[in-house]
Amino acid sequence: MATQSVFWKILLLAVVVGAMPLSPAQAQPKPVEKPKPIVTVTKLDNTTVRGWLIEYDADRLTVEVGPKPGSGEIVPVEWSAVSKVSNGLTQAKALDEWKAANKDNLCETCHGNRGNRCPTCHGTGHDHASSKDCAKCHGEGQIKCAAPRCKEGKIPCTGKCIKLSEGTWAKGAEGKTWRSIRWGNVELKVSSLHVGEIFELENNVPVSRGPCPVCGGKAQLDCAKCQASGFATCATCLAAKDAPDCADCEAGRVACATCKGTGLKPPAQ
Ligand SMILES: [Zn+2]
Ligand SMILES: [Zn+2]
Ligand SMILES: [Zn+2]
Ligand SMILES: [Zn+2]
Ligand SMILES: [Zn+2]
Ligand SMILES: [Zn+2]
Repeated sequence: MATQSVFWKILLLAVVVGAMPLSPAQAQPKPVEKPKPIVTVTKLDNTTVRGWLIEYDADRLTVEVGPKPGSGEIVPVEWSAVSKVSNGLTQAKALDEWKAANKDNLCETCHGNRGNRCPTCHGTGHDHASSKDCAKCHGEGQIKCAAPRCKEGKIPCTGKCIKLSEGTWAKGAEGKTWRSIRWGNVELKVSSLHVGEIFELENNVPVSRGPCPVCGGKAQLDCAKCQASGFATCATCLAAKDAPDCADCEAGRVACATCKGTGLKPPAQ
């Protein structure tokens, strides 16, 4: 078995190099757009807008109201005025889709969220001192993120990539950590340098498919629950309606200083 592992290691070097040009993610055709759904948008003032949902992002959704698409009135509705959309679309979903579409270009401070939790009140929106008697957060205004696999704001990638949190890793050659992957009786030894990569069996030979498309080769993802902060705003303090407002934020959020609220990486100077 040992000789076989060495064999695969050598072969792997060859296939990794050879496999690279075979995975052009860009070469895929653009998906055909589905027919626009008809939605009813219920606003906070209880008025409704019904029409074709023609576009949306994290700020607003746009509905076309009229007898047929292409000739109606274009009505943009800010998310801040929306109570409900009949097809279940929410601002959070719209933001998630926007982040997925821009995933390679997101601001590294706010992770595309465009704002961050206020560092003064930790997102409660209330004066930090008003948290001091809270039994839930012991005056912190925040508690550790409760998402089951969240570690300091990161969760293991949900893709098929090699992760340090999966398999048995052991110190080995070249001072690196190694693990083996098995497909029946085919075994591949990979070092931790390949964390975040995807390996598959092709004609009974393990080949690298390059960096995992889900995590971009990082083997972990930002925890959506805590927006990668590792902490959640204390719900008890957040709900403390009588507590005085925090002087440093708007409802617990501050615009991201790195991207000036765009959510994208600042353009290189
Ligand atoms: Zn930002
Ligand atoms: Zn604040
Ligand atoms: Zn609290
Ligand atoms: Zn604090
Ligand atoms: Zn991955
Ligand atoms: Zn988390």
